[in-house]
Amino acid sequence: MDNCIFCKIIKKEIPKDFNYESENLVVFPDINPSADLHLLIVPKMHIGGIGEIGEEQTKLLGEIYAIVNKLVLENKLTDDAYRVVVNGGKAQHVPHLHFHLLGGQWKKFI
Ligand code: AMP
Repeated sequence: MDNCIFCKIIKKEIPKDFNYESENLVVFPDINPSADLHLLIVPKMHIGGIGEIGEEQTKLLGEIYAIVNKLVLENKLTDDAYRVVVNGGKAQHVPHLHFHLLGGQWKKFI
């Protein structure tokens, strides 16, 4: 998608350090963190949002939650508070599907 900021990050047209990268997704810190740890898990394929998820994304969604678990362990969040958030509709500001992993103390509501 030409004008999509997350597509530009994925294509490395906008420089960004990735915490993790696989064939299907990238993970990078949210630029405006809402919690002590605030990572975005972003599929490389341009999917506009939850409304565009179909059965063909079943494997991708499994991979996303497997990476969430890996990040939870790496960041020692198992016994701390953490949350995975996917915004949609007017609550979604970047129209490229992404999962927020929020860990530790919240700073604000997203
Ligand atoms: P949402 O409201 O769920 O669409 O969340 C979009 C998130 O993307 C917000 O938390 C923003 O702070 C974050 N964001 C926007 N641009 C960037 C960027 N260039 N790098 C990292 N995070 C970003």
